[in-house]
Amino acid sequence: MFRCPRPRFAVTVLAAITATMLTAAPPSAAAEGDRWMPAPGQAFNDGWKPLDGLGATYRPCQEVRWHFDRGSEGPDRNTMINDIRSGLATLEPHTGLKFVEIDNADSADLNFRWGDLVAEGWGSNVAGIGGPDGYGEGSVAFSNSVDWTLNKWEGRDWRRLEWPRPDLGPGWYSWKEGPGREALVVHEVMHAMGFDHVKDFTSIMYPQGAIPNNRGNLSSGDIAGLNTMYLNNPCSSEVSSDNSEESVPPAGLEISKPGDSADCEEYTTVSEKKIRVKKRGRAAFMVKVAQDQFVAVWDNDDELLVQWTVS
Ligand SMILES: [Zn+2]
Repeated sequence: MFRCPRPRFAVTVLAAITATMLTAAPPSAAAEGDRWMPAPGQAFNDGWKPLDGLGATYRPCQEVRWHFDRGSEGPDRNTMINDIRSGLATLEPHTGLKFVEIDNADSADLNFRWGDLVAEGWGSNVAGIGGPDGYGEGSVAFSNSVDWTLNKWEGRDWRRLEWPRPDLGPGWYSWKEGPGREALVVHEVMHAMGFDHVKDFTSIMYPQGAIPNNRGNLSSGDIAGLNTMYLNNPCSSEVSSDNSEESVPPAGLEISKPGDSADCEEYTTVSEKKIRVKKRGRAAFMVKVAQDQFVAVWDNDDELLVQWTVS
């Protein structure tokens, strides 16, 4: 069964917890929707900062569906899911967002995964990367090799871990101090939500994640930023009509039958109907389709929003 690809944003921004490498493409004005954007010339000097040229990734009050791809997870890192859940719970009251765990990466607004971040070019000490992939979409990856992502760092509390170093001689040991992995989760998710690094070393968005200055906790600047970009904005009752994938109200539904060539452009329309858009841009519909038929949702400008094949 083939599937016509859903149009997606290209990855435009990634930032790493110990790297400052950042590439950002300014969005088209039409894609902003009702997300928070900085005012022209707005200065950010109180401990938080949006990524250059970008605003909030998600809409105020949005239900952010998230998924963690645990496919390549090692057994010594297999409780990371708990830190993702607790990190997102930490962010909810400061943002007004609602994070909902789902089992499908394609439908997720925020995707987590493991990665060989060294092979991906981020350097050997980078524990995680995170950034928006476009409006309404963000992603986070955790290193599958650094010490900080091991299960011994599970949780949020500050700890000191020691281990013997017989290679250096009797009585020698190494130690490491830091907050639990939840701090890493919060830092990377805030990148995905549109936050940049800051020079204020009490911020969790300090490149080292407020280590050791604020012990991985949110600073007053972090909370001010989360409030400004998310919590303090009114929940929208309907999405604005622009051309972005996420915020255009679907206007029409089309059931089509594919041609023989398995080409997405070749199909015969067998039925069409109008869709009513509910609060916060959600649309629900019931429709009868047969196997191998397409279902496609279009907006008023004939832009394809989503399309799938019934199998
Ligand atoms: Zn970072």
